[in-house]
Amino acid sequence: MVKTHRHISLSACPLCGQAAAVVASLLDRWRKALITVACAHCGLFRNDPLPTSEELRRFHEIDYRESYKGVRAPKARNVLRSARLAKHRFEQIGHRLPAGAQILDVGSGSGEWLAVLQKAGHQVCGVEPDPFYGEFARREYGVQVETAGILDLRRPEQSLDVITLFHVLEHLPDPLAALQRFRGWLRPGGLLIIEVPNTNCRHQHPAGRFHPAHVIGFTKESLDYAGRAAGWERIELSLGSYERNLLAVFRRPREDEALAPPSLPAALPAPLLTTPAAVFGYYFRPSTYLRWAARMVQFASEWLALRGTNRSIPSPGA
Ligand SMILES: [Zn+2]
Repeated sequence: MVKTHRHISLSACPLCGQAAAVVASLLDRWRKALITVACAHCGLFRNDPLPTSEELRRFHEIDYRESYKGVRAPKARNVLRSARLAKHRFEQIGHRLPAGAQILDVGSGSGEWLAVLQKAGHQVCGVEPDPFYGEFARREYGVQVETAGILDLRRPEQSLDVITLFHVLEHLPDPLAALQRFRGWLRPGGLLIIEVPNTNCRHQHPAGRFHPAHVIGFTKESLDYAGRAAGWERIELSLGSYERNLLAVFRRPREDEALAPPSLPAALPAPLLTTPAAVFGYYFRPSTYLRWAARMVQFASEWLALRGTNRSIPSPGA
């Protein structure tokens, strides 16, 4: 159990079903009102109240890209960043993918990850709610992308080898149901690869972790628990640079494999709350300034790569 000081009674946690929670923050990253609580039982963060499916559909289909980046089509800088990230991800997890795998990427964005996978010989399909991004991916990279809301997505049972979800699960108000649904679509032994922001990240401004579209926030423990509670075997769980993201690889067990029922660790780390002490700690940690420097280097490198081009769409394999 998480040691908490301020318990409040709310709707139940969508992961463990318990109601006891502690207020993590009252503001989002733009200092607008947003209540985020951390479950006292499993450590999962959630916005309170959680949006209904209908509110979520509307938000994802129309407002998401605009409120995020102020654009309706990907900018060259975003495409460059996404292409570099796709290459990096492939170096990290490409060895886990079986040759010629059938892969579904949920929330495929502008399609650079699909392009890298297709180039490596995999059979890929993406699903993207934003029609402009889906069209961009089809046109630029010749990859198959379906325009659909993630909550409405359907696939035949046992029809895929791998599902990838990068920064998608934190947008879904019932992550357990989603993880169970994805499990059915994979053949036994198939892989689910997930990346989400780490809500207990100490190298990010405490208030910067909360966003109205990120309705769920994961810690290492709650992501692991969610995967195992949905019937997956966890084969990898790691923190990215500056502990900003969590990367998990889960495997669908074969029919004859019996997994032990999941249990939470006896002592969960306390949820990081947005308190003056946490903000003070953030500004007095060397990693804060190292990360800022790393971001400056990244911006400079992107500026150099795009200099002199007004429409540079870099090749994801380049
Ligand atoms: Zn919980």
